[in-house]
Formats: sequence, C-alpha cells, structure tokens
Amino acid sequence: MEKDVIILGSTGSIGRQSLDVIESLGGRVRALTANRNIDLLEQQIRKFKPELAAVADKKAAETLAVRVSDLPVRIVSGMEGLVEAASLPSGDTVITAVMGMVGLKPTLAAIRQGKRIALANKETLVCAGHLVMKAAEEHGAEIIPVDSEHSAIFQSLEGNSKKEIKQILLTASGGPFRGFTEEQLKNVTKADALKHPNWAMGQKITIDSATMMNKGLEFIEAMHLFKVTPEQIKVLIHPQSIIHSMVEYVDNSVIAQMGPPDMRIPIQYALTWPERMAGPANKIDFLKVGSLTFEEPDLNVFKCLALAMDAAKRSDSSCAVMNGANEAAVDLFLREKIGFTEIYDLVSETVAKFGGAMTNTVDEIIELDTEARSFVYGKA
Ligand code: NDP
Ligand code: MG
Repeated sequence: MEKDVIILGSTGSIGRQSLDVIESLGGRVRALTANRNIDLLEQQIRKFKPELAAVADKKAAETLAVRVSDLPVRIVSGMEGLVEAASLPSGDTVITAVMGMVGLKPTLAAIRQGKRIALANKETLVCAGHLVMKAAEEHGAEIIPVDSEHSAIFQSLEGNSKKEIKQILLTASGGPFRGFTEEQLKNVTKADALKHPNWAMGQKITIDSATMMNKGLEFIEAMHLFKVTPEQIKVLIHPQSIIHSMVEYVDNSVIAQMGPPDMRIPIQYALTWPERMAGPANKIDFLKVGSLTFEEPDLNVFKCLALAMDAAKRSDSSCAVMNGANEAAVDLFLREKIGFTEIYDLVSETVAKFGGAMTNTVDEIIELDTEARSFVYGKA
C-alpha cells in the first residue's frame, strides 16, 4: 500500500489495530501520538520509525525524548504537538483515533492540508460536525469513516445516488445490558459495564456502548457524514454485530455491509478506498453465526440514546454540550465516583442548562465544552 500515514492516538485500541493493518499492507508511518503511554509509544517508534511523535503530556514527552535520543525522531508535546503531527507535510492520510473532542483541532488542521481523514474520532463530528464537513469541502479533504457502522453505510452507498436514500438503518449490538429494565441498570458495576459482548475497545467507548450513548453519538455522526436528516436514520438492535449497518433506498431495496466484528476491516478500507486489499482480518463463518436477529431499542431504558436523538434534531449547541458532559460523566463513572444511571442524569441536566447556547466557531465550542465538563465535575 502506497500510503504515508499519521496516527493520532496510536497507543489506543484503534491506533494499535491501525498499526497492525499498516504492517500487514506495507504502508509508511510518518507520525504517531499518545496522551501519556510513552512505554508503548517508544516501542511503536522503534518499530515503525516515524519522523515525528507527539505526546500530549509535556513531562512524558520530555522523558520520551531522552529515551529515543538514539533515533532521528523529533518529539513534540501538548495540543500544539498534536496539531503539528496532524499537519506533517510528509503524511497523506491521518487516522484520527484519539479519544474525545480533544481530536477537534488536530482533525481540522489535517483537513486544512487537504489530507485524507480516516475518521474514528466520532466526538469531533458530534461537537463540530458542520464546521468539520464544511472545512473538508473547502479544502478537498476526503473523510472516510472508520467507525464500523459508518464504514458499512459508506460502502452500502457506493454506486448509488444519495438522493435515492429512503433511510439509514444504523445497527447496534445493544451492549452488555440489552434487555435490562431501568431498575436493573441502577445496580450495574464498572466491571459489568466494561464487558462488551462483541467488541474489544477503549474504556470510554465501551461505557458509551453500555449506556447506548455510543449509538446516539453515531446517529449524529451519520447525519453529518451522509447529510441525512434525523428522520432518515433508524436505530436497529442486531445483537450478532455481523451486519454493520444498511441503507434502504426509495425502491425498498436494502444494501447492507457484513463482516466479523473486527475493526481492522473498516480501518483498512478507509486507507485503501476505493480499492480493496487482502489484509489481516478474519472472515465470517455464516454457519457458525447461524441466525441474524433484530429488535427495537428501548428508549425508556437507554435514555442516553433518546437524549442524543433529541439533541440531533436541534440546531443549538446541545450536541456539543452533551458530548462534553458525557466525556466527564463517563470519566467519573470509570473512577467509580458515580453510579451507572447517574451518567444520564448528569448529562441531561447539563444539556438542559447549557444546550441552548449558539456556537459558531471552534473556540466557542471548546469554551462551551469546558463549561459543560466543569458543571459535571462540580456535581460529583
Ligand atoms: P482508547 O482509549 O483505546 O485510545 C485513545 C487514544 O487517544 C490513546 O492513544 C490515548 O493515549 C489517546 N488520548 C486519550 N486522551 C488524550 C488526550 N487528552 N490528548 C491526546 N491523546 C489522548 O480509545 P479507542 O481506540 O477505543 O477509541 C478512539 C476513538 O475511536 C474514539 O473516538 C472512539 O469513539 C472511536 N472508535 C473506537 C472503536 C473501537 O473499536 N475502539 C470503534 C469505533 C470508533 P494514551 O494511550 O497515552 O492514553
Ligand atoms: Mg461504531
């Protein structure tokens, strides 16, 4: 594969799988970034030999610079460092695999250089989808989704006209608490919530999958990526996670994309599109899968999904506020400071308080995001 790749968040779940794919397809790695896991970042630098590595944490960056002083790699730090990595001239493709809206500035920086964005970092689209999509159009930057559902929709749209879409069927596994009542949800623990039935992912998205906020974020992500209305997206529970999403057309024909629950497939496709290549992922054994089933999501129990679908319909800053509040609330839950259902309570209270604000610029969105987070942390 003739690609020069920059990975933002290379030490995370998507980042590590991206390196697997690149190793298997033979692309070049130009820059890597981490928050503070410099042990793994050092190993990655020694193996993939990027010219630049960025570490968000300044102290960790200094330590890493000493450790890799025998190599020609340059080490930078902080948000400026992430932005520098994202805009590195030698890279043509940026995999955005950082967790959270911290990916916004670096993603915009890469877009302004006209690079291809292999987009995993959904929070960026949730809080600033209009700005990101507009910048991509202005600078001719391709945004190819990595999120498995959006990759499936993207693939199901190929060769078809967007004008002929009736609706997008966004599938969801339902997470570890599928079928639970509201009462049962009150007593679940962090360990229960971290046990996803089908996917191994970073902790934040795993909790989002348990609350189904993840599907809400994906609902908003789909609106921006495919320019459809909220009314054109239907969430469907599909516990086997084999169909990764579908597009229904005006003639009632439905096109779906299927594959094993292995993120290396959508990561790879975002790199090789419009071509396909043999890669490291496993194949589906349909006889082992047996049956594919579908259910309606329970919006009275999975209130985060309902909240996100409601925010998606509003033209104010509800989505950005909801995202920031959710990042803070999930962090509190992971540190066992709040219970599982308090995630929704805190996020909905924050959206009610701050969601009506209007934001037009990146700085305004970041300011509002900071306010939303402080409000949540202040409540715990
Ligand atoms: P992980 O938590 O596994 O990894 C996150 C990465 O981002 C790590 O490299 C981490 O560095 C870095 N990072 C975290 N916080 C910061 C920060 N403040 N500044 C700079 N870097 C930071 O997450 P995932 O790989 O699971 O998810 C990444 C993104 O991809 C998310 O937006 C998620 O929604 C999306 N996604 C993930 C899927 C999956 O299967 N995992 C599927 C679909 C989408 P460090 O290691 O040093 O902490
Ligand atoms: Mg997904």
